Amino acid sequence: MKQKETPISAFNYIKRYLKRCITGPISLLMGLSVTIRYFFSPHKIVTEQYPENKKTLKMHPRYRGRLELIEDENGENLCTACGICEKACPNASINILCTKNMAGKKILGRYLYHLGSCTQCGLCVEACPFGAIRMNQEFELSSESVDSFELILNKKEGRS
Ligand code: SF4
Ligand code: SF4
Repeated sequence: MKQKETPISAFNYIKRYLKRCITGPISLLMGLSVTIRYFFSPHKIVTEQYPENKKTLKMHPRYRGRLELIEDENGENLCTACGICEKACPNASINILCTKNMAGKKILGRYLYHLGSCTQCGLCVEACPFGAIRMNQEFELSSESVDSFELILNKKEGRS
């Protein structure tokens, strides 16, 4: 059964109206004070002015961009073509193509990385026992060409 609504008295109505007349402007002034504070102290603004700051913008260290191979001081990548990262990837975004060196030892031929299917989970990086890969800081990864999502990460054949 529907309950009967208690009629609001004229006194309570005026009281509530006056309360709103006071709290409304106070709330507005509190909001404006934040705007004014940042207007006079622009160095405190944390919002990134992208794309104007594109050249100086640094992502957070824990940000995961796209996968890349790590090179040593001689420019050789550290990958031994063991294939552990390939197995660790949950959606087959990595293909390790091996080859053999003159001594018949297995080395990295091509490190194929499918950026389009990569979810930047970082499991491959965690799984690599040689610390040979990392997620870089690139953040403009979109492209109009599907082909640009198919990458060969090693510029030359891997170490023996
Ligand atoms: S990146 Fe690491 S885990 Fe992957 S094949 Fe190379 S050495 Fe093995
Ligand atoms: S970050 Fe995740 S999805 Fe991307 S290649 Fe590595 S394991 Fe696969």
